[in-house]
Amino acid sequence: MNELHNNLDRIRERIRMACMKTGRDPREVQLLLATKTVAASPIRTAIAAGYPLIAENRIQELKEKHAALQDIPHINHFIGHLQTNKVKELLRYDVACLQSLDRIELAEKLQQRLAAENRTLDVLIQVNTSGESSKFGVHPDAAVALVRQIANLPALKIRGLMTIGLLSSDNEKVRNCFRLLYRLRQEIAGCHIPGVVMQELSMGMSGDLEAAIAEGATIVRVGTAVFGQRNTPDSFYWNEQL
Ligand SMILES: *Cc1c(COP(=O)(O)O)cnc(C)c1O
Repeated sequence: MNELHNNLDRIRERIRMACMKTGRDPREVQLLLATKTVAASPIRTAIAAGYPLIAENRIQELKEKHAALQDIPHINHFIGHLQTNKVKELLRYDVACLQSLDRIELAEKLQQRLAAENRTLDVLIQVNTSGESSKFGVHPDAAVALVRQIANLPALKIRGLMTIGLLSSDNEKVRNCFRLLYRLRQEIAGCHIPGVVMQELSMGMSGDLEAAIAEGATIVRVGTAVFGQRNTPDSFYWNEQL
């Protein structure tokens, strides 16, 4: 289907324009495809079109699509809330980066399993910059302390921060979330914690990627603007009750 290619072109162009406006190099911004609820076939088309970085929110979907996409080279990140008892399963599906690490209990469990398998894992620390209780992430005030704790776990390689901005039509409020994440990255980088690399800022989605890029995003995570509206509401993925 050509619509998918058109959508990908449009997103590329939006990223390019946003970079131009703020004097950034578009090569600094990676497009990650958020593929929750999307069938394997359109994902395959997008990968083949030159967008190999994809991410799921739930282990069950990761499992199904990992099997369906095994023959086509791509890179998997995980961007959903991860229960501690799902760690072992996550590690089965060669996920290159867990973007949603937000608590020490989960980090310790990961450390345990990774050490047993003699592996390491890249992670981003998810920060709740919007103050909404329905979204996961460490409180901004507790982020530095969490990074220090996780930095002591040798199997986990901290590469940066991730956030979901406020879902609001008030552009300034949305931008404040992204600005907060940028400032946190600078603050953490200034702490010079051994082993901690504050390279990535994963922020911005279909509706707010321009604001995120203006505030320094290095990874934007796009779903709907590429694959179309989802039937499942996001609360299914983002709800505390999960
Ligand atoms: C679904 C999702 C996205 C993409 O959202 P869209 O609005 O569809 O672009 C980005 N990040 C996370 C964590 C998601 O769950």
